[in-house]
Amino acid sequence: MNENELQKLVEDISLKYFGRPFVHQVKINRRMTTTGGRYHLSDHHLEINAHFLVPQYHDYLVGIIKHELCHYHLHLLGLGYQHRNRDFKVLLQKVGGSRYAPDIGLRKKKKYRYLYTCKNCGLKYPRMRKINTRKYRCGKCHGQLYLTQTLS
Ligand SMILES: [Zn+2]
Ligand SMILES: [Zn+2]
Repeated sequence: MNENELQKLVEDISLKYFGRPFVHQVKINRRMTTTGGRYHLSDHHLEINAHFLVPQYHDYLVGIIKHELCHYHLHLLGLGYQHRNRDFKVLLQKVGGSRYAPDIGLRKKKKYRYLYTCKNCGLKYPRMRKINTRKYRCGKCHGQLYLTQTLS
């Protein structure tokens, strides 16, 4: 789906579910990972996460667009447009918008650099920093820890 098709989709959803036109711009954001979209208060444009523009995520995309349109219309109407506002919660529920960005595996897994293992019970301790194995012991059995893996 390109930006023109997305623009059309947002305009259609706006009329169908909100009964109001969407008269600003939609942009595609290719760098978004943890959010599905964003509404910009300053110039009222929407940004949509490019990863959701493929056919298999169409339902997610519609949910995201509805969510952003809740911000959009409430803000323009001078109503509570923030997540914590009642106006927002009620409208989101009414139009069936998504509450959170759907998890399609875009979030990066936290990387650790060192992996320690307990000599006694085998429990593993992934750590970002080196630890002093003479000082720190296994939290479960108090066994000695040793470095088993180093990732760069
Ligand atoms: Zn939001
Ligand atoms: Zn242990």
